[in-house]
Amino acid sequence: MVHSPIPPSDWSRYFDNAATTPLDPRVLTEMLPFLQDGFGNANSIHSFGQRAHEAVEVARSRVAALIGAEDPSQVVFTSGATESNNQVLRSFDNVIVSPFEHSSIREPAKQSGFGVIENDGFELLTPKAKVELLSLMTVNNEIGTIWDPIVFRDAALFVHSDITQAAGKLPINLDNIDFASLSAHKFYGPKGVGALYYRSSPPKALLVGGEQENQLRGGTLNVAGIVGMGVAAEIASDEMEQSLEKTRSFRSVLLEELSGCTDWRINGGINVSPYILSLSFLGIEGETLVVEMDRSGYAISSGAACSSHSREPSHILRVLDIEEAWARGTVRISFGRYCTVESVRGLANSLRHAIEILRRMNIA
Ligand code: PMP
Repeated sequence: MVHSPIPPSDWSRYFDNAATTPLDPRVLTEMLPFLQDGFGNANSIHSFGQRAHEAVEVARSRVAALIGAEDPSQVVFTSGATESNNQVLRSFDNVIVSPFEHSSIREPAKQSGFGVIENDGFELLTPKAKVELLSLMTVNNEIGTIWDPIVFRDAALFVHSDITQAAGKLPINLDNIDFASLSAHKFYGPKGVGALYYRSSPPKALLVGGEQENQLRGGTLNVAGIVGMGVAAEIASDEMEQSLEKTRSFRSVLLEELSGCTDWRINGGINVSPYILSLSFLGIEGETLVVEMDRSGYAISSGAACSSHSREPSHILRVLDIEEAWARGTVRISFGRYCTVESVRGLANSLRHAIEILRRMNIA
């Protein structure tokens, strides 16, 4: 056994929900039969397979409902947003991407020599020439900034949006989006499963060699994972409003509790998701603060989980021209379903204490 259990009572001290969320026990309950007797291959015609197939189709409808897709057939199951993002970008030749994208957009864009939209702070400038595909995320994973792809409706034939940090948290409007990517584990579903939405023009298959998913994604379906994503989507839809309200109050409690601190700022601009709070503290290393919080039992992060092992200042903060001293002292607090007002107050207390001590040590 490589795992020592973390009791659910400790989940309230987990403030890194933008990296991943715990699997909701209600999701696990519905997944379990598909890891046991419901083992059929969803593409087999016998009843073992049909049982799995039906469960996958229920999940497809639930995911479609969560994001407001007109028809479940517009949802293709993938291994997650990284794959979905790669698949969309590999489907086009003439592409431009926003400079704020996750690395699973930035890297394939770089490899293919695609353009990057110019920016003035948070404002994105309209590209000079019309492109085939423009990719702009809905919510940034590091600083929580929200963008609305509607501003680029005329700048591209197709618009893709990475909705990974919005799906299950904020209402999604697909009116001006032709492709969208999401991952189940950001809204209390399992890891390694996600979806790619397409409006009408199907993307090219990235994984070939199987007929699954209407030939848009080869490989035996991860039935239990897909079922889990569907259940997680339905719970997220049902609880979205109350969760938003709760999260907004967590955010104000935390900011209120920190109001006595000096030399700190909030990143992300005016239009931000309440779920992600990026803070910078002058004279402090973000990573040191993450370690100090961990010692006190709280999980926060110094940036995106996928890049938090890098000692380079965050790409996003660089795009925003944030001065090095502020960028270094940046941490991300991302709220989730199991946080409580008490745990938020506890985190704020620990933060205040650690900041005071670290600053005193720096002066000494
Ligand atoms: N896009 C965004 C905005 C994300 O936050 C993440 C996860 N950090 C991804 C894509 C990639 O998701 P996954 O690792 O589940 O493929």
